[in-house]
Amino acid sequence: MEEKIAVYPGSFDPITYGHLDIIKRAIKIFDKVIVAVAHNYDKQSLFTPEEKIEMIQEEVKGYPTVSVDTFHGLLMEYMQKVKATVALRGLRATSDFEYEYHMAAMNRSLSDDIDTLFMMTGKDYFFISSRTIKEVASLGGPVAGLVPEHVARKLKQKFSQRHKG
Ligand code: ADP
Repeated sequence: MEEKIAVYPGSFDPITYGHLDIIKRAIKIFDKVIVAVAHNYDKQSLFTPEEKIEMIQEEVKGYPTVSVDTFHGLLMEYMQKVKATVALRGLRATSDFEYEYHMAAMNRSLSDDIDTLFMMTGKDYFFISSRTIKEVASLGGPVAGLVPEHVARKLKQKFSQRHKG
């Protein structure tokens, strides 16, 4: 039987407990899960792709079926290259839905063989977003409990460099 491979694409700027919850749920469903950091997003990132990968790797190193990668360009082309058939996306509130629905529809029109699977996080994580975490961290607020300790330290370092610079 062919391996069931899922790609979990995103900005991961930085990875949060919300993302990790989705990854842990996906492990139970798929033979392989590839966490794929998107390179070409319009968004301004706080962390470089290398920093994002390093932080994700640190968190998933105990899970042999999870790997971390980056991709440029179209997600559908990347998925064909790695032989993945499912794109994973997390849903927090209904506000995520419209954007995600359009993305999934566009991706379906680009490749009919690839499905988007939406997953809900656990109740403790649904309010977490990388954006709000960066806001809180930039103001010196506590982010422990929202991101892994290692990531919280990196956030602190980033913002203290910025304040100095
Ligand atoms: P993007 O910039 O593509 O939205 P993100 O890095 O913000 O990427 O998130 C990647 C995916 O994870 C998206 O589908 C997003 O909705 C989902 N996600 C982010 N945070 C959470 C969370 N706390 N609970 C569930 N899904 C989440």
